[in-house]
Amino acid sequence: MDEFEIIRRFFTPEKTHKRVIVGVGDDSAVLRPKPGRDIVTAVDTLVAGVHFPRSMAAEDIGFRAVAVSASDIAAMGARPRWMTVAVSVGANAAGMLEGIANGIFRAGNRFGIDLVGGDTTHGSETVVSVQVTGEVKRDMAITRSGAQAGDTIYVSGYPGDAAAGLAMLDRSKPGERVRDRDDHLIRRFANPDARIRLGRCLSGVASAAIDISDGLFADLAKLLDASRVGGVMDVDRIPLSPEILETMGESDALNLALTGGDDYELCFTSNDETVVRAGKQLGVPVTKIGNVTKGGGLTCRKDGKTFEFDHSGYVHF
Ligand code: ADP
Ligand code: MG
Repeated sequence: MDEFEIIRRFFTPEKTHKRVIVGVGDDSAVLRPKPGRDIVTAVDTLVAGVHFPRSMAAEDIGFRAVAVSASDIAAMGARPRWMTVAVSVGANAAGMLEGIANGIFRAGNRFGIDLVGGDTTHGSETVVSVQVTGEVKRDMAITRSGAQAGDTIYVSGYPGDAAAGLAMLDRSKPGERVRDRDDHLIRRFANPDARIRLGRCLSGVASAAIDISDGLFADLAKLLDASRVGGVMDVDRIPLSPEILETMGESDALNLALTGGDDYELCFTSNDETVVRAGKQLGVPVTKIGNVTKGGGLTCRKDGKTFEFDHSGYVHF
């Protein structure tokens, strides 16, 4: 199959929303934002052996690549609309490309994002870059830099699950049946949920937001730095899923929740307590985990005392 045939068969959507004026097939895509909106755009690259295990299913690679980029748009309080993808594959090119394309479309349907163009090449590793473009009401994007002393710090979902899932995935053999609770954690890594609806409802409500790609502690520290404030995180408030607690035990689960990347949950600050109820209405747990302070960096507290932990994310099993 030549490249043209591959693009026609695997990467051409059957249908796109009406504001895609020109989609896959021309030299560029032409997109029409709604009037009064700012354009919000981000790109992320996943490399086999670096960002995901080489054994991960092609469809999961495609899905995850879309989700991680869509999550950056969600963290700005914006609505993702369009994506272009650059895909490079080595062995079993046609099979890999078909699987990756299926995953891209599955995620696109889930998150409401149209595929409008891309690039398809060969290389020694599987590499997938997804650029997602979205829109937000003018001047309403949430940045990392707006947190104020006195705001409350919140996190969505159950941080640590994806890192636990990655550990499970690394240890599982292809074709092997895994226990349901392990499968739940693996899904959190392979098919993360970009928190788009939550992000959109935070626009105008959160003072700052970031999505968790490098770990809750590290990403919250980035947000506080960008806002030139400090923070105290109460680690006993961090929500741990029943699955991670059962698989890892409390101490490793907490360590993964603080240091494990890959969750793509949102961490944000706000002085409006209704965000917890708003999350509940969307079916997304939103938990208060601390407070923004005037300065002094980010410290963790447990049972009223300063809490130190192993920043490497090392787990003991
Ligand atoms: P050119 O080299 O002239 O830019 P390409 O052969 O790279 O054209 O691509 C032809 C068309 O197919 C373009 O519209 C491009 O956006 C689209 N395309 C290529 N690869 C992909 C892909 N993996 N997913 C979606 N669209 C793609
Ligand atoms: Mg091209």
